[in-house]
Amino acid sequence: MPSSRIVIAEGHVLSMDAGIGELERGDVLIEDEQIVAVERDLGELDAERIDAAGAVVMPGFVDTHRHTWQTALRGICADWSLLDYFLGMRSTLSPRYTAQDVYVGNYAGALEALDAGVTTILDFSHCNNTPEHADRAIDGLADAGIRAVFAYGYYAPPRAEPHFTSHEMRIADSRRVNGALSQRPGGLLSMGISLTEPGLIPFADTCREVETARELNAVIATHTACIWGMPSGLDQFAACGLLGPDIVHVHCNACTERDWTLLQRSDAKISVTPETELQMGMGHPPIERALQAGLVLSLSCDVVSSNSGDMFTQMRLGLQDARARANERFHARRTDPSDLAFNTRDALGWATTGGARALGMDGRIGSLAPGKQADVIVVGPGEDRLNMIAPVDAAGAIVQQANASNVRDVLVAGRAVKRQGRLLGVDFAALAQRVEASRDGILERTLADGPILPEPKPGFDDIAALLLPNLNVPAPAVG
Ligand SMILES: [Zn+2]
Repeated sequence: MPSSRIVIAEGHVLSMDAGIGELERGDVLIEDEQIVAVERDLGELDAERIDAAGAVVMPGFVDTHRHTWQTALRGICADWSLLDYFLGMRSTLSPRYTAQDVYVGNYAGALEALDAGVTTILDFSHCNNTPEHADRAIDGLADAGIRAVFAYGYYAPPRAEPHFTSHEMRIADSRRVNGALSQRPGGLLSMGISLTEPGLIPFADTCREVETARELNAVIATHTACIWGMPSGLDQFAACGLLGPDIVHVHCNACTERDWTLLQRSDAKISVTPETELQMGMGHPPIERALQAGLVLSLSCDVVSSNSGDMFTQMRLGLQDARARANERFHARRTDPSDLAFNTRDALGWATTGGARALGMDGRIGSLAPGKQADVIVVGPGEDRLNMIAPVDAAGAIVQQANASNVRDVLVAGRAVKRQGRLLGVDFAALAQRVEASRDGILERTLADGPILPEPKPGFDDIAALLLPNLNVPAPAVG
């Protein structure tokens, strides 16, 4: 007998499962951590009931790229280019993070994700100034109750107090973390590896990072060709046999045709972050290009230090930008499109099944079907929200109009973390105080040493020479 039974009843079910499809009125039955039935009408059941009438029931969103540790610095990068981000966040602020700051960022950030219906994240965690930083990052995810790939980052900020005095020490620490993670109860957290950007370290060290990830059977995440000043390094990856279907390549905005061919050959997974990419000078999210290559496409929020932490925004921006770019081909010929190139159900797929496939978790999450983990969200008008009342097209309304405040209920592995619009077990006043204290401490320690961004700001070429001493791939011709 299951110890818990929950039925999410009478909602509009967007299952994202090819066999089950979309049910205008459907019931989802959950026993313990699994979905056991998704049907039009399961009748009267001896189960706890979540009434979803008038609302949408769908799988939780999967965010494949999030630097959760930056949560306490909300909005600091809102007017920053990627160069500012490298200088300010990666080089100046992150060395001032304590392990407790990383905990607070990950805990509050994971809760923010859950509140917005994001039930799985890949936490690209590259603020590991000491071993304790990684441990506390994982504590934050665990305490929030989110499903996560904790992707250990090897990045060594240039101005950090050198706890790790060699790359090998960081590799050893990732092995330690992998061992500790496997001992944790609950089964929601798994190991990933976040590569240092090619060019920042000798390529032999990049090889060590990839080899270690594969020994640990960990999902690999890497920033790939986000800007023209940071070439992808994919030719070197390919020459060393490092490419593979277990790598999530993030951004890819400045990938050359040769790069896309290499990604295609390796069955790479793609994560685009529409909001940061459009802002920071990375260019258009490469949604259409990734799909043309037949690659698995996923979406992600990247950083709430700059932008939103919800997938509604990423779907909306990504979809509309992809549509605008397709429309431009007609406008270039002074004609007009009669159809749109992408639809809202495509965007829902990128944010759910696409994310699950990118992380190699599509056997367990990403859609609502018997046997899947019960990561389920209910999105609807609520008691005082007008924007989701009586949609004609449920998927259209979710992608184009919903926001985090419409997320009424969130279950992760069958456990309710949000009910009737409120996160459970969260003392909001105390949480806000912790985040504010963390923010104040990071800024105080940073500003004691000087400004966050240098004045005058150096040009990108000067920075590249400084930050990318090992950049030994030729820059692609800009055309
Ligand atoms: Zn990133």
